[in-house]
Amino acid sequence: MKILVMGPPGAGKGSQSAKIVDSYKIPSISTGQMFRNAYEDNEPIGIEAMKYIKNGELVSDEITNELVRLRLQKNDTERSFLLDGYPRTVTQAVALDGMLKKMGTDLSAVINILSSNDVLFERMEARRVCKECGATYHLVFKKPVVEGVCDKCSGELYQRADDTLESVKRRLEIYETKTKPLLDYYDKKGILYNINGMQSFDKVYADIELVLRDL
Ligand SMILES: [Zn+2]
Repeated sequence: MKILVMGPPGAGKGSQSAKIVDSYKIPSISTGQMFRNAYEDNEPIGIEAMKYIKNGELVSDEITNELVRLRLQKNDTERSFLLDGYPRTVTQAVALDGMLKKMGTDLSAVINILSSNDVLFERMEARRVCKECGATYHLVFKKPVVEGVCDKCSGELYQRADDTLESVKRRLEIYETKTKPLLDYYDKKGILYNINGMQSFDKVYADIELVLRDL
């Protein structure tokens, strides 16, 4: 099972991906999380990437492709993986195809979670993320048991720098211009599955499972 989860920022990609990874026991490749971890560890690649991420901009294709290329070389990705937040441009998608071809494999499905802009704004403002494990919460729909504390690891919850209003607007613009064309790219390959993201978390997940079951 080699899948990619797509959708505009705030559509629930992160939490749905976390559940898939948990249920199917497959490695998650989240470039956003990898960049944030590298930043926390003071690695140059993380510091460079955070300059873009903070402003809602995309990290350059070169840096991002290299990060993923190194990650795919680890043995745990041989049978299955879930890509979250990569590729975000057609250039990245072409690079990914090249990497997978070299590995003698290809993507099995692209799950695209659809949502409207109103819903997205509302969701992102209330989003909180765990500093330690990256688990995501929502102040209304998915509250942690104890305020400000992660249910899973007791880590501290915070609002991501790229979840502010200005940054969210910029990310949606970028999604429209740079990431949306990817849907066509994967549709032509016959591996695109659209999922209605404006339903409860559990219903969205159930719809995703119907796709995964047939892979
Ligand atoms: Zn946590």
